[in-house]
This record gives sequence, C-alpha cells and structure tokens, in this order.
Amino acid sequence: MRLTRYFLPVLKENPSEAQIVSHRLMLRAGMIKQASAGIYSWLPLGLKVLRRIEQIVHEEQARAGHLAMLMPTIQSADLWRESGRYDAYGAEMLRITDRHERDMLFTPTAEELITDIFRSHVSSYKDLPLTMYQIQWKFRDEIRPRFGVMRGREFYMKDGYNFDLTKEDALHAYNRHLVSYLRTYERMGLQAIPMRADSGPIGGDDTHEFLVLADTGESEVFYDSAVTDIRLGEREIDYDSVDQCRAVMEEFTSLYARTDETHDAARFDEIPEERRRVARGIEVGQIFYFGTKYSEPLGATVQGPDGKSTPVHMGSHGIGVSRLVGAIIEASHDDNGIIWPEGVTPFHCGIVNLKQGDAQADEACEKLYASLSALGLEPLYDDRNERAGGKFATMDLIGLPWRITVGPRGLKNGVVELTCRRTGESEELSPETAVAKVAEIYATHHPHLQKDEPMAGRSFHTWL
Ligand code: ATP
Ligand code: MG
Repeated sequence: MRLTRYFLPVLKENPSEAQIVSHRLMLRAGMIKQASAGIYSWLPLGLKVLRRIEQIVHEEQARAGHLAMLMPTIQSADLWRESGRYDAYGAEMLRITDRHERDMLFTPTAEELITDIFRSHVSSYKDLPLTMYQIQWKFRDEIRPRFGVMRGREFYMKDGYNFDLTKEDALHAYNRHLVSYLRTYERMGLQAIPMRADSGPIGGDDTHEFLVLADTGESEVFYDSAVTDIRLGEREIDYDSVDQCRAVMEEFTSLYARTDETHDAARFDEIPEERRRVARGIEVGQIFYFGTKYSEPLGATVQGPDGKSTPVHMGSHGIGVSRLVGAIIEASHDDNGIIWPEGVTPFHCGIVNLKQGDAQADEACEKLYASLSALGLEPLYDDRNERAGGKFATMDLIGLPWRITVGPRGLKNGVVELTCRRTGESEELSPETAVAKVAEIYATHHPHLQKDEPMAGRSFHTWL
C-alpha cells in the first residue's frame, strides 16, 4: 500500500475522550471512529488488525478440529424464553420489536440458537463429538461502555460450543479449548493467563478466564508469579489426545491464579510471599463447561450406545476478538505509539523515502516495494511529499514492527537502513539483504507464510 492512496486519518493531538493508552492510540492512528457510545466504525488500518486477529483465531480453531459457521445477529426471543434467559439476561440485552410486534433481540451470545440447530439435526451419539464456532458481532447494552473497543456495546467475538456424550468427553473439549486458546494468544504475541473465574449469566461450574496483565485492566487478579514463566511455545500437541490436553491444562492451571470473584485469601496466603501477586488484567477470553444446563430445557438429546435418550454435555468458549486489538496495544506500546507484534501487524514493513522526487530514492523504494510484495509480504510505503520527521512520527505511531529507510546519502554507498520498532536499533544493509532479513523474520513469526505449517500456501478461507 502506498500512503498517498491510503486512508489514514492520524490525529496529532491526544483525543480528550480517551482514558487509556490503547483507546488513545487507536484514535490517533486512525484505526477506529466512534459512531455512538460503545459503537465504532473500523477504518482501514483498524480493520486490517481485526482481520489478522480473526485469521489467527480461525486457523487455531481449524487446527483443533472445530467447525466454522455463522449465526444471525438478530434472533427471535422465543428460544430465549424456552431457556429462561430472556428475562434473566436483564438490561444488557438489546430488545427489538419487528413490524409484526414480534420480540426479537440482538444476540449477546448464542447458546440457545446453536442448541436449537443441534437438536434439529443430531439424534445419535455417533455424530458426537461436535464443536462449532462463529466469529460474529455481539451486542450487550453495557451500563458503562468505555475504553474504546475494550468495553464496547457492539463487539466482535468468537463464540464456540461443544456437544459431547459424556462429562469426560466434554471435559476433554474444555481442555482442548484451553490449549488452543493458549496457542492463539501466543501467536498474537500475548501472554494470556488462564485464571479460575466465575461463570456469570452463562452458568456452569468449570470456567477459566484468560487474562492479559495490564494496569488498565478492569479485573483484579491474584496469582502466583510462577504462572508467568509457563509458555506453550513450539510444542506439538495432539488435540485428540485426552492425556496431552489434560497435561497442558494441569500445567497451566495448578498454580494459583484467580480473578477477584473466586479469590480465596487463605489459599493465596499459602504461596511464598515473594511470589504472591495482586495485579490487574484484561479478560480476552473465557471457557465454560456447563453440562446439561441448556441441553435439558431445550431438549438437546441423543440416543446413547445403550439406546437410551440422554441430554448432551455442553460447554461454550469465547474470545474477545475486537477487545484483543486494544489489549495487544495495552501490552505493547511506548511513548511514540503502538508496537505491533509481528503476528498481528497491519503491514509487515514500512518503507520511508527520505527524499520523495529524487529519482534514485524513488526507484529504490519502488524496488523494495516490489520485492517485499513478491514474497507475500505487505509493505506500507510512505510516498508522501513530507519531511522525514513527520514520516517517522507516523510510522512510529502506527507501530509497524520493521521499517526500511531510503535516502540519497545511503544509496550512494549502496545501503538502506532497517529499523526495529521495538528496540529502535538500526542496521545499514544492501536493499536485497534488508528484504531477505524481513522475509526471514516473518517466516518464523507468521506460520501461514511457512511451508511446513498445516495452513501453508492456502488462502484466507482455509478454515472453511
Ligand atoms: P466482561 O466480564 O468483561 O464483561 P464477559 O465475561 O461478560 O466479559 P464473555 O461472555 O465471557 O464476556 O465473552 C467472551 C469474551 O468477549 C470476553 O472474554 C471478552 O474478551 C469479550 N467481551 C465481553 N464483553 C465485551 C465488551 N462489552 N466489549 C468488548 N469485548 C467484550
Ligand atoms: Mg467472561
């Protein structure tokens, strides 16, 4: 993309309505624009990051064997009356009446609708296990929408639902989700710690929230600092293996880590004092096992191997896709702006031309642009007729992890400058070497550009 053809309405001043850094930077970098309280338009740069996050979620869901689908945002109230949640959900549910005076609602979550789909089509245990998910807009009429996309009223969420014959099978689904969520967040450059939580209006006993530690987080959390040393890393996990998934679950959840709702002061005090932490966190996901809470009232039953009809065991799982955009910025920024992790960056590499209109500099930039694009990378070329300081400020603000700077002086010596946004370190390299280095960095950080990955060489729709 060339900046002269892009829509990047950056703001020089700090917008006064933004209380936290991610909201401020998203507005300043021209990623979003508020449409009304808690409701946002996603401008081109913001949408690109949202799509990158969504893509990682889809790829990791596909890897875990879960099926993508899509349910409507507007649903009839009937099913919600059947489950008893139409009244129970309260004022957070946006209720709508259509022209025939029928009660409709904008979906805050979709347990009822998916259970209805299930009960209409599945009647035998032989069709289990089954996990389906969607990434779809949700609406919750939050009492205090704030912090930009972190607590919106309209927000983008991955919600998944598993159907299993027995409690043991459903607990495997729970553990499998825990593993796949850990992998999902790690690919986004985030550490999200699973913490024992409260189930809220979804119901059920077993539930973990995934929290990104940040001072601006809305949840108070209590944990043993040793949990922050655990990573999934490059480990290969067989998602069908009950033992492997359980082992990872135990490894990540046996140390004390809880939100304030489930905090147990006595148990917390047993942790050696130097490892006790009280901090704040951003909830970026949650997994639930709730047994037959929805399948019983809604009649989602299957015929078991013994011929008897039995309600299925279910769980649901959510990832805050739009909230993650803000959470990643909270976890990764400096005074000059955003620092995107390679896994979610809107463009892979910036190209800054220090002397627009200089024949040699222009030509070198064009060549860099073409070589990066030919490798499947997306460069953002600042081809504006602006002074260098302004170009650097824009690049730093929008946070591309790598930048190549091209100027007549360097070109005389056959070099350009490759700069890392995170460390600020620069290297003078030939243009060819700079391109090769950027390509190598993304080969490790962007698995779908790598040949030996399951998603290799396939299009955006691999997950379908
Ligand atoms: P919270 O406690 O933050 O209100 P929740 O527990 O009610 O969230 P879930 O039903 O678990 O939310 O939804 C799954 C995920 O969707 C959450 O983990 C969170 O990341 C995201 N999410 C929930 N509410 C919002 C919101 N108002 N704005 C943006 N993302 C949200
Ligand atoms: Mg939650």
